[in-house]
Amino acid sequence: MLDGINMVVYPGEKVGLVGETGCGKTTTMKTALNVLPMPPGQIESGQIHFKGQDLLAMNGREISRIRGREVTMIFQDPMAALNPVFTVEEQFSPVIKHAANARLSKKEVRARAIAALEEVALADPERLLKAYPTQLSGGMRQRVCIGMALATTPQLLIADEPGTALDVTIQAQVLRLIHDLVEDLNTSIILITHSLGVVRETVDRVYVMYAGSVVEMAPTPKLFANPLHPYTQGLMESVPRLSGGGVSQGIPGRIPDYMDPPAGCRFHTRCPHVMDICSRQKPPVFRIDGEDGEVDGVHEVTCFLYDGEHGAAATTGEVTT
Ligand code: SF4
Repeated sequence: MLDGINMVVYPGEKVGLVGETGCGKTTTMKTALNVLPMPPGQIESGQIHFKGQDLLAMNGREISRIRGREVTMIFQDPMAALNPVFTVEEQFSPVIKHAANARLSKKEVRARAIAALEEVALADPERLLKAYPTQLSGGMRQRVCIGMALATTPQLLIADEPGTALDVTIQAQVLRLIHDLVEDLNTSIILITHSLGVVRETVDRVYVMYAGSVVEMAPTPKLFANPLHPYTQGLMESVPRLSGGGVSQGIPGRIPDYMDPPAGCRFHTRCPHVMDICSRQKPPVFRIDGEDGEVDGVHEVTCFLYDGEHGAAATTGEVTT
């Protein structure tokens, strides 16, 4: 069950959603886009707003007008996102037609598709339009997906582990391309990833997720300078360093199923600082730094160490590990 997820993305902002595989990152985004099958999915409470409109109150037609036009998504595996039996042009055309407010001729649709492929630095776009996805390399397919996602000049792009299925050098190129394109278009982005290295290089602000809940949120420099939640600290200590220092121990134990999480703090079964209260009560969100609406300043953490009573570290923002 997803719980305690309170995310805000400002215009033009690059936000990261980071956490281990299986912590509910993709489900969170599918819920936000209203694409999660209901049932079995179920929303018990909460709100999802896009430009002041409540997405949960919209009918299918209204939401599909936003999805694919103002909000688009890139998936981890470009092969799964593209249909192998249609050419690139046959898959581009409906996207461009859906995004356009006016009727477009076939020639105009084609010209926009070629421009989009040029934007993602793909050579010979005319020839590419005639190709089937299976005739392209993994990196080219991911670029085609990015071109389709950004051809509509969306206001929000959700990128779910883009390029993770590719070689690391190609993944780095893909992330750089996405970064540069969203900067040019002033598109906001939510980058879903399990990699702290990727968020550090790419986003302005980070939400750390554990077992279906957000446990910490901070601007990227603050999070890396002073990670507060024991889970975030454990994640950072688990990153292998090229400079040596031995193999990290990682975080002991396994991430629980977020559909059946432990009571109280969901991290209490693995936390090195666990206290009596942690298995009994759900910790609230503590603001350690910054004011409402202050994009560069707010640092929040969901942990009893910061309630001023259970952890001496709470008032200073310092935690010893
Ligand atoms: Fe650890 Fe308790 Fe904080 Fe949870 S609330 S992270 S168990 S100290």
